[in-house]
Amino acid sequence: MVFPIVSFSSWIIINDDGTTEVYNADEPEVYVAPKKKRKHVVKKKIAPKYVGSSEKIMYLTFDDGPLLGSGNIIDVIQQERVLATMFMVGQHIQKSRFRKKTFKRALNEPLILVANHTFTHASGRYRHFYSDTNRVVNDINKMDNILFDNDINYRAPYLRLAGRNVFRLPSMHYNDPGIPKRYNESEKYDALWEEGYQIFGWDYQWSYNPKNGKVNKSPKELVNAIEKIYSRNRTKISGKFVLLMHDFSFRDRFNGKKDLKDLIRRLKYNGWSFETLSTYL
Ligand SMILES: [Zn+2]
Repeated sequence: MVFPIVSFSSWIIINDDGTTEVYNADEPEVYVAPKKKRKHVVKKKIAPKYVGSSEKIMYLTFDDGPLLGSGNIIDVIQQERVLATMFMVGQHIQKSRFRKKTFKRALNEPLILVANHTFTHASGRYRHFYSDTNRVVNDINKMDNILFDNDINYRAPYLRLAGRNVFRLPSMHYNDPGIPKRYNESEKYDALWEEGYQIFGWDYQWSYNPKNGKVNKSPKELVNAIEKIYSRNRTKISGKFVLLMHDFSFRDRFNGKKDLKDLIRRLKYNGWSFETLSTYL
């Protein structure tokens, strides 16, 4: 005689309202993901730039490229759709085919303004470099020629000096407070201004360890510092913030992409919009 096999894996559940449900453990509930709606993707040749508040304008500026790290900066700028300025060094462009390619990539990106950061970067000997007006003007003209020859969107000779926080703009003349007057460097800045250069310094720097270039503030700490300066109205122009960063800080070994993305997203969250320095004044 064959006995039916009794299964103990079924339960009857009596609900509070008296209704019953049968729960069968032999048939485990399978998670079914809700059907995803297909997104309607509109392909545009140039994706729109990010638009934030008109009262808080951030000028992201990156110095010393093309270096390792410059490609990561371009990637993040394209992903986040924000405007930025990259101050590049002539000798760095000429160093390799890869660097030249990075330079061209930045030039071809409408979100990025590529500008002059000298040809030699003063070879690291700043006081010597700035002691001779002709040397300064010739070096910077050499880099300007590279930009003029390669940039089909060349707008004006926008410049940041190597190692000096100086402004020479129609309504703003500002000398680096760290340079004693007796060195007469301001004469050299004036000579560049007379040559037609617009010179941009900065309000604040994302500082780094000079040994390896790694930034020494997290994006969160940096944004806190930025907001403090903004709320105390300590920028050169009210409501406009020029942030100095360096390309080598954004290498893969320092999680450069992640940090820069984090910074930009925090700034967006706090209502900043982004411009290139061509709209600063
Ligand atoms: Zn520099």
